[in-house]
Amino acid sequence: MHELSYLIRLAGIASESAEANHAKSVDTVTVAVGEMTGLVPEYLRRYWPQAVKGTILEGSALAIEEIPAEIHCSSCGETYQPKRENQYRCPSCGSSSGTILHGREFMVQSITIEN
Ligand SMILES: [Zn+2]
Repeated sequence: MHELSYLIRLAGIASESAEANHAKSVDTVTVAVGEMTGLVPEYLRRYWPQAVKGTILEGSALAIEEIPAEIHCSSCGETYQPKRENQYRCPSCGSSSGTILHGREFMVQSITIEN
């Protein structure tokens, strides 16, 4: 139920934004979910109705945009998508010291409202 607590936090942000825009109801909430968050899109969609019950978001759909992981190697400067098969190391130089550019996102991308 890891996903549910994340969703409740996200739903709070989305409802504030809907209310600030004087929404009557919300059609769709689009979220960006990074590959490295460990969150499972299927579970996020499944728990969404539960997370938004009794809020302005009740009845809305959750759209998920998956963000692939991307690392910038600090040894050779290469930007790569980490693979489990090589322990997420840089494919050019084998280094494991790098900066994560993408993959840890979990945020509201946009909401579609009805006024
Ligand atoms: Zn490298």
